[in-house]
Amino acid sequence: MIYLDNAATTKPCEEAVEAVVRGLREFGNPSSLHGLGLAAEKEREHARNAIASALGALPEEVFFTSCATESSNTVIFGAAASVGKRKKKIVTTSVEHPSVAVCCDKLAEQGFEVIRISPDENGSISAEDIISAVDDNTCLVSIMLVNNETGTILPVERAFTAIKKKYPQVLTHCDCVQGFMKLPVKVKKLGADFISLSAHKIHGPKGIGALYIRKGVHIPSLLVGGGQERGFRSGTESVPLIMGFGAACEKLSADIGGRFEKVSAIKSRLTQLCSETDGIRVLSPADGSPYICSIAVEGLKSEVMLHFLEQRGIYVSSGSACSKGKKSTVIKEFGVSDKLRDSVLRISFCAENEPSEVDQLIAAIREAQGSLARIK
Ligand code: PLP
Repeated sequence: MIYLDNAATTKPCEEAVEAVVRGLREFGNPSSLHGLGLAAEKEREHARNAIASALGALPEEVFFTSCATESSNTVIFGAAASVGKRKKKIVTTSVEHPSVAVCCDKLAEQGFEVIRISPDENGSISAEDIISAVDDNTCLVSIMLVNNETGTILPVERAFTAIKKKYPQVLTHCDCVQGFMKLPVKVKKLGADFISLSAHKIHGPKGIGALYIRKGVHIPSLLVGGGQERGFRSGTESVPLIMGFGAACEKLSADIGGRFEKVSAIKSRLTQLCSETDGIRVLSPADGSPYICSIAVEGLKSEVMLHFLEQRGIYVSSGSACSKGKKSTVIKEFGVSDKLRDSVLRISFCAENEPSEVDQLIAAIREAQGSLARIK
């Protein structure tokens, strides 16, 4: 199997699998006062420390959630319910993941003014456009770090630093799902009050995420009840999944730079081979994250191509995994024509991939170009 769909999900590393299994066997509830409970609490805090340390944050600034979608929903609806009573403007981009974009749609329906900054003709989001959209009436700015469809890196640090300088009360949120453990993500540099993270994109288990909340910043909870996570996120913690998240984080944080180099070489090899092949267009920017590279194979439908590749043991995505079957509007925002949109393949890497795997991918695409029916 050649797995090139790591932006959809990653294969859990052995350390994460072992930690999850150990957590299931040990099974204590961290709220219990007996020994089993205390052992579970210790494991949970160990994982929290690993994530906090990777972010350069305090452990008490990290809250476990069920996924990054929950983290982002908590921030956006929480900011709207508190600061949003007085300030009705949200600044975001037109290329956010649905876990942010759909929350903003809902708030727009409730009367919020949502400003979505679009990429320019080069596919870049300008920090200046984000900064100048913010005013005294803004409650929240939510900008992703790395776009999940193209790998475009957004100017979060520049925008948030300038916004915080001029409007210290404006809340800043960053969806770092496709950036965490791939680029150096440090809370102090990023200038974010909130950061959403997901374990399954970093070789951890599915169903567990985290939310960083800068010390001193308060928003209401999305889930209320038993008061777990220091009163902020009720619901018995999934200690096995938390342990798996922590184990993946500990493993990956040791060598972010080394993996970046390896994956960069693989992406370069892919773009080189694409440039040598008629009818393949690279859609991702050269200065984007090396972990994601979207291409279009002119005249061949993505879904047909995807199954053709799958028959040869090669797994890619026809776009974002969340937009199953639906045409992505995000790729259109990046200036990709309607015709090419039907032919997009998202190739996404991890450090387990090898350059020879993109050779096999391109050989299979060339075979498809010679044999599959073209879109009329
Ligand atoms: N944000 C981005 C950029 C993503 O790529 C994804 C997953 O595809 C999410 C958020 C949602 O993450 P989760 O599956 O943990 O809810």
